Amino acid sequence: MKTHWTFLLALAAPWVPPVAAEDAQPAAPPPRIVFIALDAVPYEVVAELTDEERGEAAIFRRFKPPVPLISTFPSTSNLAFGGILERLGVEHSPGYESRFFDRRANRRRGGGPRSYFRIRFPWRDFFDWRTTSLFRKTMRGFHPVRSNLRAIDRSLEAFLASEQRVYFIYYGGTDLLGHMHGPRALEAVLRGLDRDLEELRRRTPNQPFYAVLFSDHGQAGGTPLKNVRRDLKQALAAAGYRVAGRLRGPRDVVFMPYGLVSSLVLFTREGEERPVAEIAASTAGVEFCVAASAGGWQVESRRGSAEIRRRDGDGIPRWSYRRLSGDPLQLGPLLAAAGDGEVWRSDRWWLRATRDRAFPDPLYRISRAFDLVDNPASVICSLAPGHMYGAIKTELLARISIGRLRWTHGALERQASLGFVLSDLPGWQPDGAVRFSDALAPFARPAGLEVIRAQAEAARAADRSRSGH
Ligand SMILES: [Zn+2]
Repeated sequence: MKTHWTFLLALAAPWVPPVAAEDAQPAAPPPRIVFIALDAVPYEVVAELTDEERGEAAIFRRFKPPVPLISTFPSTSNLAFGGILERLGVEHSPGYESRFFDRRANRRRGGGPRSYFRIRFPWRDFFDWRTTSLFRKTMRGFHPVRSNLRAIDRSLEAFLASEQRVYFIYYGGTDLLGHMHGPRALEAVLRGLDRDLEELRRRTPNQPFYAVLFSDHGQAGGTPLKNVRRDLKQALAAAGYRVAGRLRGPRDVVFMPYGLVSSLVLFTREGEERPVAEIAASTAGVEFCVAASAGGWQVESRRGSAEIRRRDGDGIPRWSYRRLSGDPLQLGPLLAAAGDGEVWRSDRWWLRATRDRAFPDPLYRISRAFDLVDNPASVICSLAPGHMYGAIKTELLARISIGRLRWTHGALERQASLGFVLSDLPGWQPDGAVRFSDALAPFARPAGLEVIRAQAEAARAADRSRSGH
């Protein structure tokens, strides 16, 4: 594992693993924990397949029921894994996608098959075993179910061969499978993983382990998606802006089309954020756009505009959502009783009040959209259902291999946003949906404390053997 587990020491309040009593034999090794990240597996799919009403047909039957993991906004991998793993000491990604705008160099970088390995995305390096998620490269001639099952086999063998007590695995192929064939197609992969984990347990009765399965976001759609790129470009040009690769003049706007996702980021010169957000939000297929402003975050949409603000008094973070006109985030019903003025509510209140709504946990997620990458955008937009944004090249490649793309993620809405967490670790008792940044916290303690304990134990043993000589 390539991270600072000592960081977890800070989190490690006294915690006694519930298994300690059973494992009272001094010779028994402590159970291992394997974390398995399945890119883009929606909560809905896992909830349905694990439903106990299915009886024998249900999968992951030794696990507790899954909970939704509310992803970042945009609900895309680089951002989401940066956010999910940040409490484990993993640094953020340089950009929203593999191809990103480098602000200091004032140019676009990355995205090619070679730079995929050259430019560092810390979350990728964090995993002990991983498959790549090169969308373009693997689109053609890819046998998605078969290659996912092969990845599962290989990764579990690597886990078995490893000496590490805590092991992190990442599968990127599930994202591609979902994009190509929809989330239903994931059933074969999830069943394969369940089967292989059970098989591994049978093969290693003296090496017990727990598993934590999770995904970084969902997958939404079902109908052919329309690329908004051309309309957006036209709208900006009509308003006197120039779509460019660098920011030279005040009217330059940098586009970053790469994969095919339901969100988009724009880079502008300072001071142009708000007008550009307004123009972009007026484009057909764009749900809303956000720009960071001095006092908070400005939301623009065809349904009106609003302002988000954050306040950290008396140790409790609070958010306000003030409608300037209309109600772009559809939060009016929640605040109806409070009238039209500025209403402050605690962070916890917002999470609970919005986790079952169309836009789950919107205020926190929008604010983090600007600080979860090293090169934050000037304007970030969420697309309406039925729409996507991305490079023409990627779109054509998709058409050749699968026809028009029907499934993607990136938007703030719930289908694209809800990943899952599932575990058989004793004592894991999740309460409703979890936010991306909190999702692994319940596991960090047992996993981290045990690792630190084991290390301390190994150091003591080494001391003993030295002093014995
Ligand atoms: Zn992903």
